[in-house]
Amino acid sequence: MKGKEKVVALALALALTLAGARWRAPAAVTAEGPAEIGTQGPLIALTFDDGPHRSTTTQLLEGLAQRGVAATFFLIGEQVEGNEDLVARMEAEGHQVGIHTWDHVSLAGLNARDFYSQVERTGSLLTQTLGHGGFFLRPPYGLVDNGVKKRSGAPIILWSVDPTDWDDKNTQRVVSEVVSQARDGDIILLHDIYPTSVEAALQIVDALHAKGFLFVTVEELALQHHVALEPGEVYCNFWP
Ligand SMILES: [Zn+2]
Repeated sequence: MKGKEKVVALALALALTLAGARWRAPAAVTAEGPAEIGTQGPLIALTFDDGPHRSTTTQLLEGLAQRGVAATFFLIGEQVEGNEDLVARMEAEGHQVGIHTWDHVSLAGLNARDFYSQVERTGSLLTQTLGHGGFFLRPPYGLVDNGVKKRSGAPIILWSVDPTDWDDKNTQRVVSEVVSQARDGDIILLHDIYPTSVEAALQIVDALHAKGFLFVTVEELALQHHVALEPGEVYCNFWP
């Protein structure tokens, strides 16, 4: 399974490089078809909100690397400060990085200035850290209004599986909820700031690997399922 996912990741990296951009050029990618991987078996995206957190995110990155799995991290700007090396490591290891605001406020109802101080400020710090832009947005609490759609300038990524891992922090419950619900094209919501969630995530990977799932980033999931992502649009899943 690991080898197969590496092939997927390499082919996608090549396709994205050929397209000359990240999500801004889906038409070019799909028209040329270089990203047709021909993968068999269901694809799924693990997403992690509210990090980075020094100890738990490091532990998660270790576990994902051991399993050859790519995930997507929606980051809090103020926590990126001092953890830039973790963010660079995410991208270097094939993960996708996105924005989850500067200090975790609801974006719905914010005026333009406050919106940009949450989203643009975080995006600027990520650009300084990674050397590129084009970050997807996950609004805290999944709260989206017309202002958020209008100002996002990026695809808005919600989720289709939410085990509320922050609630009772019960690893076994979280694992069984996700594994029993998981289907091709799902976006799973977890938080990499709790040790119990990191442990759950790695158990979820192992259990879904055994069922034939391949883990890809959100961007890759959309690409594989032929969804051309648009800024300001909300996506909860990429079910086929
Ligand atoms: Zn959050």
